[in-house]
Amino acid sequence: MCGIVGYVGPEEAGPILLQGLKRLEYRGYDSAGIALLNGSGVQVVKRSGKLSSLEQAVQEDSPSGTCGIAHTRWATHGAPNQPNAHPHTSSQGDIALVHNGIIENANDIRTQLSAIGYVFTSETDTEAVVHLIDRLWVEGEPLEDVVAAALRRVEGAYGIAVVSSRDPGKIVIARNGSPLLIGVGKNGETLAGSDAAAVIALTRDVVYLDDGDYAVLDMDGYRIKDIHGAQVSRTTHEVTWDLEAIEKGGYEHFMLKEIFEQPSSLRDVMRGRLMEEDGDSRLGGIAHHQPNLSRVRRVVITACGTSWHAALLGEYMIEELARIPVEVEYASEFRYRNPVLEDGTLVLAISQSGETADTLAALREAKHRGISTMGVVNVVGSTIARETDYGIYLHAGPEIGVASTKAFTSQLVALALVTLNIGRRRHLSVVQGGGIVRALKELPDQVEKVLELDSQIRSLAEAYADARNFLYLGRGLQFPVALEGALKLKEVSYIHAEGYPAAEMKHGPIALIDEDMPVVVLAPRDAVYQKVVSSIEEVKARRGRIIAVVTDEASELDGKVDHIIRVPQTIALLQPILTTVPLQLLAYHMAMIRGADVDQPRNLAKSVTVE
Ligand code: GLU
Repeated sequence: MCGIVGYVGPEEAGPILLQGLKRLEYRGYDSAGIALLNGSGVQVVKRSGKLSSLEQAVQEDSPSGTCGIAHTRWATHGAPNQPNAHPHTSSQGDIALVHNGIIENANDIRTQLSAIGYVFTSETDTEAVVHLIDRLWVEGEPLEDVVAAALRRVEGAYGIAVVSSRDPGKIVIARNGSPLLIGVGKNGETLAGSDAAAVIALTRDVVYLDDGDYAVLDMDGYRIKDIHGAQVSRTTHEVTWDLEAIEKGGYEHFMLKEIFEQPSSLRDVMRGRLMEEDGDSRLGGIAHHQPNLSRVRRVVITACGTSWHAALLGEYMIEELARIPVEVEYASEFRYRNPVLEDGTLVLAISQSGETADTLAALREAKHRGISTMGVVNVVGSTIARETDYGIYLHAGPEIGVASTKAFTSQLVALALVTLNIGRRRHLSVVQGGGIVRALKELPDQVEKVLELDSQIRSLAEAYADARNFLYLGRGLQFPVALEGALKLKEVSYIHAEGYPAAEMKHGPIALIDEDMPVVVLAPRDAVYQKVVSSIEEVKARRGRIIAVVTDEASELDGKVDHIIRVPQTIALLQPILTTVPLQLLAYHMAMIRGADVDQPRNLAKSVTVE
């Protein structure tokens, strides 16, 4: 959440910063702003709303300078209006600061500074930091020393970037809990960004800051100091994906592009990892930890949002095939409970961005207790990827659509690969393992078949676009799919939707069913198919409108339900991937028809880096 960009170099910074913000807009779009350093001081332009308002304002004001910072906000403290937009400035306007995160002692700092005459012009927690820097600045001191001194008095999570005309020509950045990286330019420029998308147009070489690090960026490059003030060097990573990967490539929205990318993202997560003869998976990221993995007696999977749905499916997979007890915990709950984590427990964290604040905190709590940790993460080099003992990357490429689609299906395949790996060292036979590997191989082509249903699903969406509520029902492995289908619809179309275990319907939600209630029922041919058919009968008896997702060519449901979406059949373990894709398309088309902004749904942002 929230995007930060910084640039210092030989070129005009404004267009480069705006371009960087454009690539980070999915991280927040409540407001946007830039601050440029030039001979006469710090020039700030900011606007509420989407980046396009800022772009227009920049055109009118034409700020100039070769060193600057920029921000796109996802509000935590204070309404998404112009006064609360970043950058925030000191009273004289000579220090500008952008921030991602939450300053927890902001009110105390505000009270102390207000008492000695500081005037606050926003409701944000962030503004406290810029006034604190001003307060602590002793003339002649370098900016980085003052920022470090201020941060020693600050509690909370932050990624910040600061510029000041009192010490021009440099950007000071610092990180504690919110992601921040340095882009190492080739032509005398140095950049900062919340993620690699911000800097990729100019460089592929990025250096991730660790918590407690702060750095000075100037025309000579960059210097990093750690929390103790000691100069440190951090590894340079090469970004392996192209600019194309974060562009729409002819699709109207990132969400649609990413839904259609799934055949290839699924191929990518499996590439080089399937061992058909051994019925096993080859996972470089965990190979050296195989002995530890074999000793695991219990798994706790922790995640948020869509990743939490993947975690629920991971529970089914690991328990069923590796026969290890699994619990799934919302990371936001886990971190403040006192979970029982004894020897032999593995904590598995799932996060697309690898920066999800709650998941990271849960992981750190586990590490603090000496528990081994594993990550299932998409973004290479992200904090969770670096802080887990071992893990597996999704290699799905950047996911820009705020509603996760391709990362979810890749997470499911990654979990299947992990299950194979653990299972084959326990109770899973070579024949069973081989069956799973063969089914995995067929998956990408089967997803392609599902995508051919796009126009059918668009017509369906037209028929239901006025619905006010939706119910999604599934059983067994299809229950988390029901949850995910409902979440997708809520996220992008703002229709209230609930996912429910099909058989639980009669314990409550059945009261909601009448002829105005569309009910999506996941009914692939599996061990509980007949039970699900009974649930369909119950909905039908109450005149509910039924959309059934089935795998049978022709079945007793034809003619009985209002609509049938027919997807290919695979093994039960992987079927959720094929039943999820039509629900992604349904949510997308419903949102489109209702005129919602699919890629930037209201109140949401990607990469939830705040608590
Ligand atoms: N807490 C700050 C604010 O509300 C920063 C939010 C962000 O990360 O975008 O402005």
